[in-house]
Order: sequence, then structure tokens, then C-alpha cells
Amino acid sequence: MKSWRAISVFAAALACICAAALVWPGAASTRQASPSAIAAPSAQSQQTPTIQEYNPKSTLVVKEHKIERAKFPFIDIHSHHWNPSPEHVDQLVKEMDTINLRVLVNLSGGTGEELRKTVAAMKGRYPDRFVVFANPSYDDINTPGYGQRAAERLAADVRNGAQGLKIFKNFGMDLKYANGERVHADDPIFDPLFEKCAELKIPVLIHIAEPSAFFDPWDKNNERWEELKEFPQRARPPSKYPPFETLMAERNHLFAKHPKVNFIAAHLAFHGNDLERLGKLFDTLPNMYVDIAAVLAELGRQPYSAHDFLVKYQDRVLMGKDIYDVNEYKWYFRALETRDEYFEYYRRRHAFWRIYGFEVPDEVLKKIYYKNALKLVPGIDAKAFPK
Ligand SMILES: [Zn+2]
Repeated sequence: MKSWRAISVFAAALACICAAALVWPGAASTRQASPSAIAAPSAQSQQTPTIQEYNPKSTLVVKEHKIERAKFPFIDIHSHHWNPSPEHVDQLVKEMDTINLRVLVNLSGGTGEELRKTVAAMKGRYPDRFVVFANPSYDDINTPGYGQRAAERLAADVRNGAQGLKIFKNFGMDLKYANGERVHADDPIFDPLFEKCAELKIPVLIHIAEPSAFFDPWDKNNERWEELKEFPQRARPPSKYPPFETLMAERNHLFAKHPKVNFIAAHLAFHGNDLERLGKLFDTLPNMYVDIAAVLAELGRQPYSAHDFLVKYQDRVLMGKDIYDVNEYKWYFRALETRDEYFEYYRRRHAFWRIYGFEVPDEVLKKIYYKNALKLVPGIDAKAFPK
């Protein structure tokens, strides 16, 4: 009996609301803005989902192009494979063939003996499918003459098969001298190392800083809130780290003072959220390039700007993926090759938003996929790629 009464009271209330809406349309739109007011009983039984639970299924119906294989053979300039075993390398080649990944650049070659082993495991068995970059060792950074020794080690690594230098993100940010002072990216002690790169005509792929949101307060306004919740150690609070802009200034100074070195700034140089700024940097630094590894969602949320940017700076952008997973490249193909709309991204902690394809012309696509890498990285067989 009680429930019948509740229902009839609710029905009466609903009738009043509907009547009000009919008589006074303004009232209806006010109530629409606040659905809880109109659907009180069911709202009580409906828990508010947490930000992580909320996962609305899109009802949008539009054409979809699921692209499993790149339109042209491509070079992945940004991949990591530490001490790869022969089995891992065999498996890699099989997977690479399925997506038209012609040459994979392993940025984690190390130096010395480790570099030699990595080159042997990859290039030794598949000479035209892999490139290995060396990494500097900082073990002796506190001993005078470091730069010269690092340059000599790099020259030896290149003799042993390295085709570039990769500098990891601890450089310029976490790396410290014994006295506790932070090593700045433009510290002159590294000058001999970078000048050696110019002499050897090898590129430097360099990761400086982190997304700017990691330097901002971890609060409800932070775009990377979910990632910082999942990985709190990725936060770069001002109590422990220099500001994002300081790191950018040091990086730009490094690029400017070595104009003969080709620098590939990883992850759109962390300016994927401000392509105009990145374009201006390109204009002032002709030796600067970027990869798009792990920052596709930045381009995919601004398809018009991304398209125009890639057309304008088509000689400066390289295809890269970072964390290797053969099943994740298809998002890159779809974003670069189609105009698909509002599709889910593969890593929600990077982007809670959906992305859009920005289909670039074939000539631009070829440059991003392989021509720019062929220009920068010595020793890749260009005959495996279309003209
Ligand atoms: Zn990486």
C-alpha cells in the first residue's frame, strides 16, 4: 500500500512539472539543465560514477576506417627494446611485417658491450630491419674530462654499429652532480659529445622534461589527473623540480648552440598542445625535428590545426610510437590516413577525450613515415621505400 501511495504522489508531482513545462517553456529548459530535479526517485538509486568509472558509450554513427596496415612502409624512430633476445627479435620482425613497419629504431642500445650485443641481436640477424641508437653513460660525470670521454665512447659505439644517440629524460631534470646540483641540458661539459654527433653525422633523439601538466598542481583542473593518480611519481612539483619553462629554455639553448647537430625532440617536444609555439621554434631552430611518439592524442584533438601544421612543417616530423605494441600502431594509421571522427584513443590516462583523423596528403605522409628519417639517420637502405 505504501509503495502505491509513493507512486501516486510521484505521478502527481510529475504531472505538475509537465503542466508547468507546457504552460511555461522556460521552466522545461531550466529543468533539463538539472536532470536530478525531474528524475528524483531513479537518481537516488543511481550512484554518481567516479571519474574513472564514467565511460559513456558514444551513440554517434559515422563512417569508420579500421586501418591495420600503414599505407606506405614506415620507420618507427622511437622504440625501446632492452637487451633483446633472438626470439624477441624474430617475433618482432614477424609482427612488423603485418603492419608495414619496415625499419624499427631501438633507442635503448646502451653503450660499450651492451650496445655491441644489442646491435648483434638485431642488425646482426636482420641488417635492413633495425637501427640501434647508443645512450651516454653518466657514471664518470664527476671526473674531469667527462665530455671528451663520452664523445670517444660514442665514436666507438658508432664504429660498433650505432646510428644515432638517444638521451633519456633524466638528462636535464633528475640527473645531478655529486654536489647535488642539477645537470642542465645546455651544460657545456656535454659540448664535446654533441660536437661528436655533428662530426659523425648522426642525429640526437632527446627527451627533455615531461608534459607540462605534470608540473601543474594535481587538482580537478589538471588534464592528466588520471595519469597522476595512477602514477603519482610522474608529478613534477616545484618543491623538487625546476619549472617546465626553465627546462624548455635550457633545451632550446642546447639546440641553438649546436646548429650542426640534428636534434629530434621526442613527443612533439611537449608542445603538442600548442602547435603554434612548436612552429615558431621550428622557424628559429632549423636543426630541430620532432617525433609524434605517445602524443597522438594531442594531434587528434585538433584535427584542423594538426593537418595544417603537418603540411606546413612536413620536413620536421617523424613517425614514432614509444612503448612497443603491434596492436596500437593502428591508431596512428587511422589518425594520419583518414578523416574518421570522434574515435576512442588507446590509452585513457593520456587522453580522456576522443580523437579525430586529420588525413594528410600522400607526399606529407611519406615524409612522416620514412623520408624524414631517411634524411636524418645514416645507413638505412632507401631502396626499400617508395620514391
Ligand atoms: Zn621513449
